[in-house]
Amino acid sequence: MHVYNSLARVYGKVRKNHKRNPFDQLILCILGHCASENAAQKALDLLLKEYVDWNEVRVCTVSSLGETLAEAGIDSPIAAVLKSALQGICKKQFAVNLDFLMGMKHDEARKSLTELDSLPEQIVSAMVLACYDGLPVPVDEELARVIRRLGIVKPSATMATVERFLRRTVPKRESYNFFRVFVRHARLVCRPVSPDCAGCTVRRICRYGVKVQKEARTQRDAAKRGSRSAAKGGGKRTAASKKAAKNKTGKATKKASKAGETAKARSLPKKTTRKAPGETAKKTDGR
Ligand code: SF4
Repeated sequence: MHVYNSLARVYGKVRKNHKRNPFDQLILCILGHCASENAAQKALDLLLKEYVDWNEVRVCTVSSLGETLAEAGIDSPIAAVLKSALQGICKKQFAVNLDFLMGMKHDEARKSLTELDSLPEQIVSAMVLACYDGLPVPVDEELARVIRRLGIVKPSATMATVERFLRRTVPKRESYNFFRVFVRHARLVCRPVSPDCAGCTVRRICRYGVKVQKEARTQRDAAKRGSRSAAKGGGKRTAASKKAAKNKTGKATKKASKAGETAKARSLPKKTTRKAPGETAKKTDGR
């Protein structure tokens, strides 16, 4: 529940409004699938203001519907979901309303909505949770992915295990908000591929997030060490090359001085040993 409270601070909680008819509730669930409650309500108000009725919304183009929703900050793909839902309802009911849901039990309502074939399962779940009290959190792949990554259950936990865990821990009065908050987190931040762990509000208490951050830190440290040793290696090369240059210069100097000496020696007149005239005479006399 600590994780749920942290996420709810980011995405906000919604108060159920039992006075809403099932049709408005469905439209709000579609519009609020990836948006805040305020944005969904603003989009609903705009649609009611700009279109004569829901049948006109059903027959308008996806692009013009998308433009209206964009004014409320709702992503354009939702326009296609909304139009397809209205088409599905009209095809089944020959009218654009959900009056047939009145008085149905939650499992019957879920079955009827699922049979429309035009509504994503998560929107059906949100709609049923919004209209009925006392239901457990319905688990789907997206929600289970977040729960597993958080480390609340084992990474290999089955859907049934996740469902049992949520039944035990989430109070039924919180089911609707819990579902909405986790679905939005799964879609916007904890995506199936490349989750935004660095920007996630629960990254410090999430097992997967902690692991990802640790790996990123290790890589950064390794990169730093690599660049430092490369810089040192460059310095050593300079010293070595300096030494080599010095040796080379020394040798060259020695060679040059040797050559100089040789040249000097060649240029000097040869030393001749002159004998004193007396010496020869002496030797002659001695014979
Ligand atoms: S830290 Fe990452 S894995 Fe964990 S909940 Fe956040 S986005 Fe998902």
